[in-house]
Amino acid sequence: MPITAAEHAALVEKDKLQLHPLQHPKAHADPLIVERSEGVYLYTTDGRKILDAMAGLWNVNIGYGRKECAEAAYKQMLNMAYTSNYVGMSNRPSIELAARLAGYAHPTLNHTFFTSGGSEANDSAFKTARYYWKRMGKKDKYKVIARKSAYHGITLAATFATGVSRYHEMFGPAIPGFIHVPAPYPYRYEGDMKPGETVGQAAARAVEEAILREGPDTVAAYIAEPVMGVGGVIIPPDDYFPLVRQICDKYDVLLMVDEVINGFGRTGKRFGINHWNLRPDILSFAKGVTSGYLPLGGIQVSDAIMDAINSAPESESWMHGHTYSGHPASCAVGLVNLDIYERENLVEHSRLMGEKLQAGLKSLMVDFPQIGEARGIGLLCGIEFVKDRKTKEQDPATAAKVANAAQARGIRARSVPNATVAFSPPLTINEDEIDQIIKTFAAVLDSI
Ligand code: PLP
Repeated sequence: MPITAAEHAALVEKDKLQLHPLQHPKAHADPLIVERSEGVYLYTTDGRKILDAMAGLWNVNIGYGRKECAEAAYKQMLNMAYTSNYVGMSNRPSIELAARLAGYAHPTLNHTFFTSGGSEANDSAFKTARYYWKRMGKKDKYKVIARKSAYHGITLAATFATGVSRYHEMFGPAIPGFIHVPAPYPYRYEGDMKPGETVGQAAARAVEEAILREGPDTVAAYIAEPVMGVGGVIIPPDDYFPLVRQICDKYDVLLMVDEVINGFGRTGKRFGINHWNLRPDILSFAKGVTSGYLPLGGIQVSDAIMDAINSAPESESWMHGHTYSGHPASCAVGLVNLDIYERENLVEHSRLMGEKLQAGLKSLMVDFPQIGEARGIGLLCGIEFVKDRKTKEQDPATAAKVANAAQARGIRARSVPNATVAFSPPLTINEDEIDQIIKTFAAVLDSI
C-alpha cells in the first residue's frame, strides 16, 4: 500500500542516517523505497510499480515473493537459528548444501567453503591461493593477474583485484600484487594485437606476458569473471579461456573464476565456465545461490587444494573463516532455491528468454545509432552507448540518462562502466515482460 507523501518524505529524511553503498548524497536525495516485491516487480512507498530488469543486484534469479524460501528460513531459525561452523562443529543445512554443490559447477570442484557474499568469497580465494603455494613450498607466489573492467567486490583485496579505477582512487595505496591485463573485449580491445591475431589470442597473450614480466615464481593465480557483469557485460570470444587455461598450466598459476554474477543460470547455462568447458582451480559464487533471500556466498576448490589443506600439519592450518560461514538459515534457503531452479527448469528458461531479450536489444540498434553494440548471453545483457558508431567513442552520460529515464518509466536497468546499460532480470521473466522492457527502451531512446 502506498503511504502518504508526508510519510514518504519522513522516511527519505530518516534514510539520511544511513551510509549507503557507493554513497554520494546526490544519489540518495530521493531514493526509491521499495516496500513489496512480487515476480519481477517492485512496489515503492510512493505508489510506483517497477519492472526490476536487474533482479536486485543481479541476484534475485528465482524472482520475488517465493513462500518456500521464507518458510525454509523460518523453520530453520525456529529450530536452530545459528551455530558456528568453526573447528569441530557443523550443521545439517550447510552439510546438505555443500554436498549438493559438489560437482554442480564442474566435476572437479567438490569442496565448498561458505561466506556471506561475493567479496568475502574472492578474498577467501586469494588467501587460499597464497596458502596453497606456501604449502607447496613456493612461498613467493602471491600475485594475482586480473583484468581491466573486472569487478570482484569491495573488501580491500577484492577492491584492488577490481579493474575499474573509480573503485581504487580514494582507497589507496593499492594492495601490492594485483596486476591488470586487458579484457577480452571484442567490441573494443585495448591491448596490442599482432597481425592475424584474434582478440581472444591477443588477450590470452597479455596474460602470458604479464606472468613472464612479473616472474612465474611470484604469480599465484589468475582471476576472471567468465562473462564480465558490472564492467559492462563483456563476453569473451570462444578461443580465450581455453588458451588461458593452457597458460595457467604452463606456469603453475591457479585459475580462479568469479561466478558471483554468472553462476546459477544467469548466462543460460548453469555456470559461466560451462560455455567453454573451463576447468577452474577455485570458483567463487554468491548471489544466485540463495537468489538474495538471505546472504550467502562461497568458494569451491579442486581436490589438489583440498588435499593441501587437509594434509597440513596443525601449525600450517588454513586459518580462515567467518562467523557466518555455513549459516544454517542461509544454507536452508540455498537448498530450496536449488530445488526451484531444477523444478522450473530455470537455466533453460534463462537461455530462451535471453535469446528474446538479446534480439529485442539488437533490434533497437536499427533506429538508435547511439547504441554502438547490443550484446548478451542468457539473461546477462547490455547496450553500449557511443557518440559515433565509426569512432566508437563511449558516451557514459547518455547511458546514465537512459537508465534514469527508463526507471522513471517503470523499468529498472543499470548504467555501469564502459558506457553500458546492463540488464539482468529474474530468470523467471516471461515474453510479455521482455516486450515491455524493449518497448519502454524504444520510447526512452526516442525521447532523448
Ligand atoms: N564478484 C562479482 C563478479 C560481482 O559482481 C560482485 C558484486 O556485484 C562481487 C564479486 C561482490 O559480491 P558482494 O557484493 O556480495 O560482496
